[in-house]
Amino acid sequence: MTTVTLTEQTDESRLLSAMQQYWGYDTFRPLQREAMQSVMQNRDSVVVLPTGGGKSLCFQVPALCRDGLALVVSPLISLMKDQVDALRSCGVSAAYINSMLTYEERVAVSNDVRAGRLQLLYVAPERLLQEKTLALLESTGGISLVAIDEAHCISQWGHDFRPEYRALSILKDRFAGAAVHAYTATATEQVRHDIANQLGLNDPNILVGSFDRPNLIYKVARRSGLMQRLAETLDRHNGESGIIYCISRKEVERISASLNELGYKTRPYHAGMSDEARKQNQEAFIQEEADTIVATVAFGMGIDKSNVRYVIHAGMPKSLEHYQQESGRAGRDGLEAECLLFFSEADYVTWQRIIQDSEPQSQGGAIQSLQAISNFCTSVVCRHRSLVNHFGQDFPEKPCNACDICLGDVELAADPLVTSQKILSCVYRQGQRFGGDYTALVLKGSKDQRILSNGHDQLSTYGLLTDIDRKTIRDWIEQLVSQGFLIKAGEYNVLQLTESAREVMRGEVTPALLKARKKTKERESKIAAESWEGVDQGLFDELRKLRRDLAEDRGVPAYIIFGDATLRDLARKRPSNLGNFRNAKGVGEKKLKDFGEVFVDAIISHCRQHDLDTDVGASKPKVEKPKPARNIASSSALRSFEYFRQGLTITEVAAKMDRAPSTVTGYLSEFIQHEKETDATKWLDEATIREIDRAIEAVGDEKLSPIFNHLDGKVEYSAIRIVLACAQNAHAE
Ligand code: ADP
Ligand code: MG
Ligand code: ZN
Repeated sequence: MTTVTLTEQTDESRLLSAMQQYWGYDTFRPLQREAMQSVMQNRDSVVVLPTGGGKSLCFQVPALCRDGLALVVSPLISLMKDQVDALRSCGVSAAYINSMLTYEERVAVSNDVRAGRLQLLYVAPERLLQEKTLALLESTGGISLVAIDEAHCISQWGHDFRPEYRALSILKDRFAGAAVHAYTATATEQVRHDIANQLGLNDPNILVGSFDRPNLIYKVARRSGLMQRLAETLDRHNGESGIIYCISRKEVERISASLNELGYKTRPYHAGMSDEARKQNQEAFIQEEADTIVATVAFGMGIDKSNVRYVIHAGMPKSLEHYQQESGRAGRDGLEAECLLFFSEADYVTWQRIIQDSEPQSQGGAIQSLQAISNFCTSVVCRHRSLVNHFGQDFPEKPCNACDICLGDVELAADPLVTSQKILSCVYRQGQRFGGDYTALVLKGSKDQRILSNGHDQLSTYGLLTDIDRKTIRDWIEQLVSQGFLIKAGEYNVLQLTESAREVMRGEVTPALLKARKKTKERESKIAAESWEGVDQGLFDELRKLRRDLAEDRGVPAYIIFGDATLRDLARKRPSNLGNFRNAKGVGEKKLKDFGEVFVDAIISHCRQHDLDTDVGASKPKVEKPKPARNIASSSALRSFEYFRQGLTITEVAAKMDRAPSTVTGYLSEFIQHEKETDATKWLDEATIREIDRAIEAVGDEKLSPIFNHLDGKVEYSAIRIVLACAQNAHAE
């Protein structure tokens, strides 16, 4: 039973309004409210939420609602820059201190800290612990809160232990007034307690969310025709971002090269490449020049790209923990994303060998983890449930609608009890001394030399499943292993019966066996259908291009401009004015100012061309268009100038530069300004120019939209902009 106090209520409305103003979000994700309130109340906390759960906002929003500087400790330099870029793009004053800064930059940040100009400061742990950094922070007199991101690094039980994190316990002494908050996606209780102890937290509020990722659609299949399946998947996600994980470097090279040959834009990534090449490929992925990264598990740390739409495992991962982490890089933005896992028995053996060679001390645990993922692959239990249960949480007893099992991609075999009994008794009669491949051959009735010389063609179980193909029998054996009726023992993975196998033999328990995969069209998940509801795909693609162009011009990752969720909402509501634009998901004040006009222009002209309604479901507009911002020409804009000089049209330049027409119109306005062009006939016919001139006479040249409306929307915004720009130059002469 919780009672909501008055302060909590006012806190909550302040938090909501800051979240709305800066980020354009109007509801909390699960546990965000509680986590933010802990910060407001200055109570230490440990917050465990899955990847994409929205941990950053848990400290960023309250940082804006409290006086003083919020200190954020983050282990990964690349993430730091990303987060600071993202905060600035929302209008928050943030900075970071780490080894990447030049001397001048460091001085500038120090000055900002002393002058109290910053709301959030990100610091790498080793920097923070230097006496001069601590002294600088103390000199401000007002640290409002301390947030430790990726806090599992503090625990040696976590998968990414960093010894320097241990020394962070001094934070409690040096900034006695500020509560310390730790954030992680790592689930185990041991890690959680270790974090609280190591940091010396005082009666921390421990908040643990559900580890389920409802927007991820899990599908698992045996690996056959891999290239074909990869191509199908990439086609389905044409132009979207994704990751393909492979076990070995060789495979990375091979798959990436084959996909490139087929015309897909992929880049390889593995620890055997030079730092420079790796960095380039990672950049290309983040900037969306390449759609797909083909990588070993070396890829992914420190990447917060929010719109990864698919993660494919071309081989079995090493453990469920690894699978959770790697597949978890999909769909951080909360939109649906696909996680496909292709496996084969051979993968188990490959990992077994790698583990034996590289971690002789911890073999037992590693092999157990390997068995767990292998069971997951062959099991017939809902994937969401399997994963959540593995991490010690319950999952509701109903279909998730987001996995191969619940979507009915797989079908159960007829008569599973009798079939299972045949398999189990075959294992028994062979003396529990043979592996899965061999057992399948015996059941199939093979004339294999080994079978004959062992006399196993004389067993009563020989040829019992002669009508079934060998691969299916082999699959069923694995399914019996994953359901705990058989175990694989010893170095040679020989099959042995378990206690529960006896219950099957007595007919008390019926295992679930799958029919072989059919070649029918896979049913699509409902989640995907819903999140695309009402979205115009063509406009979405156009806006995505515009986003990429803007990102490139500004040197930030594309998703920092707007997330996919925002673009879809825009392509759904299609706002034609800034008031309605502001109402789209993820549009705060600052982004409205920075990007509103160019996006609205693109939306209007697309809708006009394709005869689409604008302002779907919107009420009256609230905000008027501000004057267009005058920016210094970017390098891409400069490149376009050359084409304009050659007399190319907007469409031609857009095609040449692979840019959205709306972007190119922006460049053209800059070009006209830059070249002091006064003659619009280079781009427009005289009749159009005359019409626009007349409209300007009627309604003035203060704003674009009255001119546009005066012309009944028959003339594009881009044309009006061109005429206005030329007119301005003419006046100036
Ligand atoms: P985590 O650190 O937990 O992995 P992030 O903080 O990176 O997750 O957030 C993931 C994504 O979710 C980001 O794109 C973020 O903007 C978005 N997000 C966070 N909170 C909300 C919210 N309340 N409403 C909508 N989107 C949100
Ligand atoms: Mg995070
Ligand atoms: Zn399911």
